[in-house]
Amino acid sequence: MKNSDILKLVRPNIMRMEPYSCARSEFKGEARIFLDANENPYGTYNRYPDPLQVAIKDKIAKIKGVRPGQIMLGNGSDEPIDLIYRIFCRPGVDNVVAIEPSYGMYRVAAETNDVEYRVAMLDADFNFDADAMLAEVDANTKVAWLCSPNNPTGNALPEDQIRKILDSFGGIVVIDEAYIDFASRPGWLRELDRHPRLIVLQTFSKAWGLAGVRCGMAFASEEIIDIFNKVKYPYNVNTLTQEAVSRALDEAEATATRVRGILDERERVVRQLGSLPLIRRIYPTDANFILVKVDDANAVYSALLNSGIVTRNRNKVSLCAGCIRVTIGTPAENDALIAKLKTL
Ligand SMILES: *Cc1c(COP(=O)(O)O)cnc(C)c1O
Repeated sequence: MKNSDILKLVRPNIMRMEPYSCARSEFKGEARIFLDANENPYGTYNRYPDPLQVAIKDKIAKIKGVRPGQIMLGNGSDEPIDLIYRIFCRPGVDNVVAIEPSYGMYRVAAETNDVEYRVAMLDADFNFDADAMLAEVDANTKVAWLCSPNNPTGNALPEDQIRKILDSFGGIVVIDEAYIDFASRPGWLRELDRHPRLIVLQTFSKAWGLAGVRCGMAFASEEIIDIFNKVKYPYNVNTLTQEAVSRALDEAEATATRVRGILDERERVVRQLGSLPLIRRIYPTDANFILVKVDDANAVYSALLNSGIVTRNRNKVSLCAGCIRVTIGTPAENDALIAKLKTL
């Protein structure tokens, strides 16, 4: 597929529209006196933020090995997830297909945008079969949602099956890599140039420890990023967020160290949970959480809650009956979890 063909996947109204031109993006160059945006001249956060976040994209590009033009930043990953529907899917006409079980926001955003949400079930061990997904595809399927490492299951999807989707599906392929920094194998950023229809999502919410500032990353071909930029709110990433993200990027080594600590803890928690008779199964994980199966998930969840420990009860999620999802916390928090489970 030629890069220009991607534009055929875009909703015609989006192709036709003229983006809002904000004061800060019309002016380019050096200036000292800004009288263009009706800002208040006094204060610390009186200026509008950079709509295209040039400074932090340069830093991200270096760390991730991509070009700045291949990056879109949003208000969490939630924003690019919603924008993908708004850009590619005609409400009431088009559909998407996603692995199931997976992250709940793909479905919520489909419903908000009136887009049919089709699922391709993982198998009982949460393995992914590309053919099961391709069987759901028809002429109106615009997006395939993959999540690797997957939430809530924790496992990375097999590379050959993802490759099959990239090679055989003619629409947009999204790979959500929110947990990639905890995974044992590298993600798909290095293949961006080979797959112009690929969108990789990452986030500052997990490994970077910045869930509170709300900043998500979408990586894709320049053609796709240009459309994101046309449709997003002009000032979607505020100044405070850009500052916090910029500082974190300057201290990337500190993030890497913390990730290694969490991985050590993950190993220790898995080992300790493994010796508890209460636990029926611990699923393999490439993320900063563990999915465990018990006999009565509701009872275990409630008992933990009663001692002030909040986990995620996934009992009602497809294929996850009896399962609780536990995030790796500090050593003391994990010890409290294990101690409580020992009493059950
Ligand atoms: C946590 C998580 C995200 C992150 O969402 P943000 O909006 O960036 O906080 C994205 N995808 C998955 C699968 C997640 O589990």
